[in-house]
Amino acid sequence: MSARDPIADLRRIAFLLERANEATYRVRAFRSAAKALAGLPAAEVAERAGNGTLTELAGVGDVTARCVAESLAGEKPVYLRRLVATEGSDLDAEATALRAALRGDCHTHSDWSDGGSPIEEMALAAVELGHEYVVLTDHSPRLTVARGLTAERLRRQLDHVAQVNAALPEGFRILTGIEVDILADGSLDQDDELLARLDVVVGSVHSGLKDERSKMTRRMLKAVANPHLDILGHVTGRMVSSRPAGVTGPGDRGHRARTRAESDFDADAVFAACAEHDTAVEINSRPERQDPPKRLIRRALEAGCRFAINTDAHAPGQLDWQRFGCERAALCGVPADWVVNTWSAEQLVEWTHART
Ligand SMILES: [Zn+2]
Ligand SMILES: [Zn+2]
Repeated sequence: MSARDPIADLRRIAFLLERANEATYRVRAFRSAAKALAGLPAAEVAERAGNGTLTELAGVGDVTARCVAESLAGEKPVYLRRLVATEGSDLDAEATALRAALRGDCHTHSDWSDGGSPIEEMALAAVELGHEYVVLTDHSPRLTVARGLTAERLRRQLDHVAQVNAALPEGFRILTGIEVDILADGSLDQDDELLARLDVVVGSVHSGLKDERSKMTRRMLKAVANPHLDILGHVTGRMVSSRPAGVTGPGDRGHRARTRAESDFDADAVFAACAEHDTAVEINSRPERQDPPKRLIRRALEAGCRFAINTDAHAPGQLDWQRFGCERAALCGVPADWVVNTWSAEQLVEWTHART
């Protein structure tokens, strides 16, 4: 067998680890090794691989040295083969298929709360994306920084949505909803009568994100057990990056980005409760959230939870962010039929109402 290019193999591994959003130190090991080898004549690399002295080079460890030896022997490194096998060599195709299976979006905001655009514009953008429905989930009263809707304003919004729906193209509809705050005691920040009336209820924690573990767990367990709650929004509350490039304007008020750690709670207990009460776990597509992290998506999947792949869009262009959530879901092997927004609007509403 003829030798492969060991530097190209190391870089490919680093790329696949990055794409899978794996820990930075793992990625850096392969990038550093590639860099160390790139500065040496090929003959020296081969000689060192032969006599086992690659690890004497700064930046080359046991794992990376083994990869180099395998490449030079003409074999695809085991590490690379394993990555390709577990990540799926056809990842893009899987994510694309999942995105194509989505028929709507269950978490969006308008200028009635902290979104930047009127309901009509959000709906028309969703139509253009090929959606059959979009759930309007403006904030609840106590999130005053995001102009959360009082019961009175929400009632007016329901009337308004009915009017807008009448004027939208056939085959598309705005479903009514809310992103209701999960309060400190685990109760939901809106009247029960209204929550029961809405098509879809997303519930999220927006305050006290640093609460200690047992308190946060109790709070989330109580919310998940509430029959009005259909989808648990951005589960950990983390912010992985600052505001993404190109995202400006009022559309992000209330979601203004800064880095923030995951809140601390017993994820296995919360996911077990989601599975028991048939509450879906949101895969939030916002680039600065990427919430939940993949290790938790995998645990929710193992617990038997359903999912909703949502954009949490605050502006029409952000409705196209679902592909980010789909990429992460595909990496974790989330099957399309466990994602509630691959269903039709009728099936979705049948599910939420069966739960209420
Ligand atoms: Zn939120
Ligand atoms: Zn939101």
